Amino acid sequence: MRPLIARPLIAGNWKMNLLRGPAVALAEALRAGAGGIAAELLVCPPAITLPAVAAVLAGGPIALGGQDCHMAPEGAHTGDIAAPMLVDAGASYVILGHSERRQNHGETDEQVREKTVAALAAGLVPIVCVGETAEQRDAGNATEVVGWQLSGSLPKGFAGVVAYEPIWAIGTGRTPSEAEVADMHGFIRAELERQFGAGGAPIRILYGGSVKPGNAAALLAVPEVGGALVGGASLAAADFLAIARAAPGG
Ligand code: PEP
Repeated sequence: MRPLIARPLIAGNWKMNLLRGPAVALAEALRAGAGGIAAELLVCPPAITLPAVAAVLAGGPIALGGQDCHMAPEGAHTGDIAAPMLVDAGASYVILGHSERRQNHGETDEQVREKTVAALAAGLVPIVCVGETAEQRDAGNATEVVGWQLSGSLPKGFAGVVAYEPIWAIGTGRTPSEAEVADMHGFIRAELERQFGAGGAPIRILYGGSVKPGNAAALLAVPEVGGALVGGASLAAADFLAIARAAPGG
């Protein structure tokens, strides 16, 4: 196993959950409990609650991210959020190409790549999500699918984070075996080095999909797993902090 290239990143994707009051309360509980955690912590609330959560987290150890951004820096795009707006609201990361956006909004690899370029231009760290469906895995095509997503979604000179999220594990309570996670993360590392040469080696690869306090230590100890992208369990402070404490380095 190669040495850890950075502290593990434990990222919470709050998705379309929590009104302002509960979002602020969760942020306050996380900030109060984050002391002594070695992992880097990140929460990604809905765009509308970003400013309120930013006010709670300002100056503390927990970073803030968006869940999506548009590929244009501004303009006539009703309902969309530009990357510089996320930065203006206090974000330093943005999740891009989550499977729920690929499925519910028809986002293509090309659009994810354009959004990634926009995020990097704005100074955000993009977390680009990839992952196969159950049918694709059952057909033996998981690595091929993820390989195409990586080459289609990551721009030249990519400097960000990749999240491997098997779609069949998201919100289902099912997870791949540690051997399956190790195989896929090893494949992703090799692909990143093929695409970006030496620049592919330090890219963090997160695992996401039904990470809970009970399985976090085992998943986070798998070679090439540089952290976790957590959905459901990130909505409870105790669970999210327990996952973070389970990361290598405590
Ligand atoms: C996600 O949607 O990014 C995710 C990992 O969700 P969950 O942890 O709920 O499976």
